[in-house]
Parts: sequence; structure tokens; C-alpha cells
Amino acid sequence: MLYLTDPDELGSLLTDHPRFRADQLREWLYRHPVLTTDEMTNLPAEMRTGLADRLWPFTVEVDRSTDRGLTRKWLFRAPDGVAYEAVLMGYPRRTTLCVSSQAGCALGCTFCATGQFGFDRHLEAGEIVAQVAYANAVLRAGGMEGVPARVTNVVFMGMGEPLANYDRVREAIRRLVEVMGMSARSITVSTVGVVPGMRRLATEPWAVNLAVSLHAADDGLRSRLVPLNRRYPLAEVEEAAEAFFQAKRRRISIEWTLIDGVNDTEDQALGLARIALRLRAHVNLIPLNPTPLTDDRPSPSRQVTRFAEWLRDEGVNVTVRDTRGRGIDAACGQLRVRTGR
Ligand code: SF4
Repeated sequence: MLYLTDPDELGSLLTDHPRFRADQLREWLYRHPVLTTDEMTNLPAEMRTGLADRLWPFTVEVDRSTDRGLTRKWLFRAPDGVAYEAVLMGYPRRTTLCVSSQAGCALGCTFCATGQFGFDRHLEAGEIVAQVAYANAVLRAGGMEGVPARVTNVVFMGMGEPLANYDRVREAIRRLVEVMGMSARSITVSTVGVVPGMRRLATEPWAVNLAVSLHAADDGLRSRLVPLNRRYPLAEVEEAAEAFFQAKRRRISIEWTLIDGVNDTEDQALGLARIALRLRAHVNLIPLNPTPLTDDRPSPSRQVTRFAEWLRDEGVNVTVRDTRGRGIDAACGQLRVRTGR
């Protein structure tokens, strides 16, 4: 599979061809991705045919769009049978791709469809990068109108905990920045608080953005919602986030999924405000995308508004995320839940 090969070692797959063919192939894979090798017009026909089945390390099992075509979601199936998802959201000036870093997830957050399915395996760096390349190929082919013709932002907020798959995610970021030419600033790594990974990320050469999924402002509630909190409690997560901010000078964002009657109270808002102010962080509120496997419900919109107001009254910068893709199960793991695999 072409994306599973280190971009500098593509020549090893092309031993019957002159060396410059590997450079041309790398350009197609990373700089100008296309949906089929047929479109790699400067490669000889027999080479294109020979590579045709090796272009994508997955088959596209589900391809759905909604929001007038501006949200598109794919369920990819790897040759070994595992499935993972990516969601593309288009806006007039940017296109954000939410990528998966693992097939499934071992961390078992109670409100998350992926967590309810358990863990299949880590995704390889090439499987992560191929999600971005595939979305780029779709955009280049005119797959979404009125938006930039390439992925401008990548967020590691799909299936899996990226910092639990550190080395492969690191390599994926390296390829996105150094081979594909994306700006590190347009890449966001989201974590539920894998403290050693947060600390390592602060030492990497790329100033990516860090998003910390808190969901609760005290250890009691957080340990219930995010079991990893028992291992890395809030104070440690906050310290690691502060260290990242000090190292990279990139504003931290805090993600908060609002669950009706669970973490949408004034107490939680005030606790969150204290943390956000200490970290100089921006807060993103995300009304829960309900999944078939739990009874949790999203906070009603008036409670979302109230929660945001409590934060603003304390001086916190808050955004209520739009709920793109509800009609196509766009929250992480939902497509897989729906297809039953
Ligand atoms: S929220 Fe993230 S870390 Fe938690 S179970 Fe879901 S995918 Fe895993």
C-alpha cells in the first residue's frame, strides 16, 4: 500500500523504474492527491495500472453527506477488517477534516460511541495521512462546492485517543507538515488527558494546537465520564497543558461535551471557568451527540446558552460548536455503531 510506505522509501516499491518516478509518485500522493492512479498523468500507463490496487489502504464503505453537501463523512475499511471514520466539514474559507488515530478506543469514555465499542488497533501513520490525502483528492475532484479545494485544517478528534498512539501520530504529523506542506498551526491534537503524551508533544518541533477534552471540572465527576482521569487526575492534566502552553505559546482549547443534567450545572461552569482562566484557554462547548448505546441526552439549547453565559460572566472565551452532521451520525464512532461493525 503506497501510503503505508515511508514517503522517502517509495523507490523500494518501484525497482523496475528510474529513481525520479518515486519523486513523481510522492508528489501525487502528498502534494496533488488524486482518487485513482489513472489520473497520475506523468507516470507510464503500465506503472499506473500496476499501482491501481495499492493506492488507498482502505475501501470506502460508507460515504454520506449532509448540511447541503458541506459535511461529508466516510467509513473506511482496512484490508484486515477494522473500520475507522473521517468527517470533512467545509466552510467558505476553510475545510476541516476530523481524522481517526485508532480503530476503536480503549479509554471507554461513557458518552462516546467509539469508547463503547472497545479497541481494535492503532492506525498506522500512513492510514492517518491517507485520510487527509483522500479528502484532498475528493476536494480536488470538486466533491464539495464553495469551499477551498484542499483540506486546510486537520483535527485529531475522530476515533481514538491520538496520544495513546503517540509514535504513529507523531509520524503522521511529520508527514502532514514536512511532506504534504501543511502548517503545524492548522493541525489540532485532541486528548482526554494522556499526560505523558501531552508532555512529549510539547517537546516536538511542530507548534500544533492542543485541545484538552475535560468534560468535568472535578475529579469525582470526571473519573465517572472519562475513566482515564483515575490515572491522570485533573491537576496533572492542567499542569501538562500549562507546560504545553509555555513551550509552544499556542493557546490551549478545552473541549466540553454538554450532557443533560450531568455536567451542565452552574457549579461545573464555575469550576471550568477557573481552569480555563488559569490556562488562558478557549472553551468549546459541544452539545452531546446522542448514541444508541447510552441514555445520556444532550443539554437542551436553553441550558447550553445558560452554561455559555456563566462562563462568559467569568471572563472566559467560549464558542458553542455547531452540530454539523447530526443527520449522518457524524460524531466520532457513530457511523460504526450504526452499521453495526
Ligand atoms: S472520547 Fe476519545 S478517548 Fe474517550 S472513548 Fe471516545 S475516542 Fe476514546
